[in-house]
Amino acid sequence: MMESHVDLGFLLQALTPSWNSVPLLVGFFTYLAVAGSILPGKLVPGVALLDGTRLHYCCNGLLSLLLLVALLGIGAKMGFVSPTAISDRGLELLSTTFAFSFLVTLILHFSGCKSQSKGSSLKPHLSGNLIHDWWFGIQLNPQFMGIDLKFFFVRAGMMGWLLINLSILMKSIQDGTLSQSMILYQLFCALYILDYFVHEEYMTSTWDIIAERLGFMLVFGDLVWIPFSFSIQGWWLLMNSVELTPAAIVANCFVFLIGYMVFRGANKQKHVFKKNPKAPIWGKPPKVIGGKLLASGYWGIARHCNYLGDLMLALSFSLPCGISSPIPYFYPIYLLILLIWRERRDEARCAEKYREIWAEYRKLVPWRILPYVY
Ligand code: NDP
Repeated sequence: MMESHVDLGFLLQALTPSWNSVPLLVGFFTYLAVAGSILPGKLVPGVALLDGTRLHYCCNGLLSLLLLVALLGIGAKMGFVSPTAISDRGLELLSTTFAFSFLVTLILHFSGCKSQSKGSSLKPHLSGNLIHDWWFGIQLNPQFMGIDLKFFFVRAGMMGWLLINLSILMKSIQDGTLSQSMILYQLFCALYILDYFVHEEYMTSTWDIIAERLGFMLVFGDLVWIPFSFSIQGWWLLMNSVELTPAAIVANCFVFLIGYMVFRGANKQKHVFKKNPKAPIWGKPPKVIGGKLLASGYWGIARHCNYLGDLMLALSFSLPCGISSPIPYFYPIYLLILLIWRERRDEARCAEKYREIWAEYRKLVPWRILPYVY
């Protein structure tokens, strides 16, 4: 009984937003804002907005990330920063980031209401339902001091995930518990995150950027959910040891590689197709429906093969933890639910946008995500 009181007290204290974590967050966001504004990067035009204008995104995320990791490495070597600063304050940082997301959403909400009453050209959408507007957001592309907040937050989330992981890695080295499982988990996630930044320009045509408004759902998703829930496996491995057989390691690498091939291949094929609808797919001229929809390559196997690849990758991040606990499988399970939901919403959007062309595509490619299953 006493024990559970102590644990609860510890948990409550750890979950209370703390001023100690604020400098970490402020430093991180300031670095991202400055690096994003001054570092060179490819300027990518976004999709056309309702008023006919286009936003432009400077894709310098990879450079910003590498520079940040290098600076932190130098800072740690010189004793200015502790390599375990994040892993030592996991829950406290989580609750502070949560409070920050809440605050940002409030500001976005009020600025959205204000710009609607002024008739802004960025077309805010007020549904009139307070909770709905707060949760889904009012503005599609809110900007702050020349920074596109949606692009900025997703970048912060992906980089935050890597920083948390690296801090967990340093903690396990410091504790003398570094295991094959931890190395596999770290390696797969680092490759996934680096790959994301190598292909950052693809982000500019994703559903989140082109169709989702910026409200609590996206702010929380980017700033809290991505970095903290995607790193659960790392936190779990800090506290649990797992023995992997060589066969399990090989199988795990296999799931990662196939998942990566499908995920990156499918997203790349669509991206290339949108730029040049005649570009060959797997060495052959593409099969195109109504001049607009790609129906060959991965897009001829299932209508969202990219989701299948992502799910395999998510599974590969959890497999290093073995199968003794469901906790490390939180991410693939969550992603499965999210992507099934998202696929349904995207399907409805495409059916409305492409009408009979979409119906023809559905007939030609009947599978949604996994051929012969779903
Ligand atoms: P998609 O990249 O699949 O984009 C869907 C859009 O692509 C459609 O709305 C349509 O837009 C276009 N499209 C669909 N089918 C075709 C086709 N056959 N030919 C041409 N265009 C087509 O979806 P998302 O933006 O949701 O996802 C992008 C990636 O991000 C995915 O790999 C996903 O797994 C990943 N992701 C990861 C998450 C995570 O938490 N790890 C969360 C969400 C996504 P248009 O109107 O432009 O034609």
